[in-house]
Amino acid sequence: MSEATMMSVPLTLERIVERAAGRLGHVEVVSRRPDRSLHRTTYGKVAERARRLARALVAAGVKKGDRVGTLMWNHAEHLEAYFGIPLAGAVLHTLNLRLHPDEIAYIASDAGDVLVLVDEVLLPLWEKVAPRASGVRQVIVVGASKPPAAPMLDYEAFLAGADDATPLPTLDENDALGSCYTSGTTGRPKGVIYTHRSTLLHTLVTALPDSLDVSRDDTLLPVVPMFHVNAWGLPYAAAMVGAKLVFPGPHLDPTSLLELMEGEQVTIAAGVPTIWLGIRDALEKQPRKLASGVRMVVGGGGAEQLIRDFDRLGLRLIHAWGMTETSPVGLVSRVPPELAGKPDDFTYQLRARQGVPPPLVEVRVRNEAGEVPGDARTSGELQVRAPWVAARYADGATPERWTDDGFFRTGDVATVCPHGFVALTDRVADLIKSGGEWIASQQLESALMAHPAVQEVAVIGVPHPKWSERPLAVVVLRQGQQASPDELRTFVADKFAKFWLPDAFVFAESIPRTSTGKMKKTDLRAQYKDWAWA
Ligand code: AMP
Repeated sequence: MSEATMMSVPLTLERIVERAAGRLGHVEVVSRRPDRSLHRTTYGKVAERARRLARALVAAGVKKGDRVGTLMWNHAEHLEAYFGIPLAGAVLHTLNLRLHPDEIAYIASDAGDVLVLVDEVLLPLWEKVAPRASGVRQVIVVGASKPPAAPMLDYEAFLAGADDATPLPTLDENDALGSCYTSGTTGRPKGVIYTHRSTLLHTLVTALPDSLDVSRDDTLLPVVPMFHVNAWGLPYAAAMVGAKLVFPGPHLDPTSLLELMEGEQVTIAAGVPTIWLGIRDALEKQPRKLASGVRMVVGGGGAEQLIRDFDRLGLRLIHAWGMTETSPVGLVSRVPPELAGKPDDFTYQLRARQGVPPPLVEVRVRNEAGEVPGDARTSGELQVRAPWVAARYADGATPERWTDDGFFRTGDVATVCPHGFVALTDRVADLIKSGGEWIASQQLESALMAHPAVQEVAVIGVPHPKWSERPLAVVVLRQGQQASPDELRTFVADKFAKFWLPDAFVFAESIPRTSTGKMKKTDLRAQYKDWAWA
């Protein structure tokens, strides 16, 4: 029998919304509107409107556990939905507006969304989704410049109709709070359900100084979309600690982002590498005055070169790793004090690794022989366990992704260095099998990215009559720069075994990307499947 000597206060989102409404009520929330103007509000007003949204949803018949979709850019109303939908006992289901309409419809139907909040500027997209998302009973238009066509409702009118007397449901910490679908580069996207408890614990830990380090002194710009794993949980972390939030709306080009960073004195910005590549180029062309000490969080592959380039520009990139299934934060790379002061090359290599788990996250890297040694060489699959890692998919699909002792098999291939830093070398699916040996494409990519003429590069395995597969590098050169295949091969030759080096280099205008900015290697493999090896 346990001794229940302490209070059992449920870890629900109410705790964060209460603070936002009260103690942190004055803190600003800034959003860029589609017309580029800046809208200013506060956590207090957002929380108050979120509670109205919750009551209006309950009055509209939304029941506990119902899925409510959002098809929106990053802005204050989306934050209201982040708060209000879970307060109504419903599940915040963020829909990825970059997907094909058929895919959005599949996901909305699979989740069982009953009501959807849609940005007015995204109505043309919603019109293509709607015929195949028949479960959606009600559409509410956010940011409407004119009354929406019936039966759609205007968000402001919907809020105005809320009655303070409508009771909100009692929440349990294990109730579902939100849902995201995996990006599905292979197979159908699968739903992941976050609970209040998992979200609260993830929020607490991501805000810690050695994690993403968010405090009330910060101004945070989530460039990462709110439909992509809850913008890495940053809106909740900002609201918990009282950091000012700045939302970019639909304007994600480097000039608009830099203008926001400069104008609002942003201290933390978070996004995928493609965003930072654009920002780097813009800053190199035209240096700007950004808040001193500005930090940027990068997920999804931060090549060492990018980290070095940003240091040179006076900005600091923090590399982190995560997945939809892991809420997402699972690894963060920061140089610990005992390793500070080592030579530059060492610290850059460490910072380019995906990092170490924050508190409450357990990771291990395993192959057929068991757990890999910390030699930075032997690779295996990264497995993870934490209170904010999914225990299953919403529909129970692919139970083999979980080990018998409760770890999630990430599908990422990794090594561990003597200091315990995990580095991803590849996705299991992207490994190249050459003459019975494995070649890790991401390691080649990181090395090639260090060449000054290289903007982006994808290395893929292409069928080969003798070796079964050989690596081919698809290279995008930086504007006005040149490099020959021989030069590129020589540039990385001393870093890898000879058989690892790409046999061919092709130059392309761009690399195909998924809706969340990841390289779409399936497309590249299809494109080069008939490559004629010399
Ligand atoms: P998603 O569920 O869409 O967020 O995708 C998760 C996948 O993105 C991971 O399994 C990794 O393959 C990849 N990913 C996430 N973070 C990183 C990172 N820091 N470096 C390289 N790949 C990453």
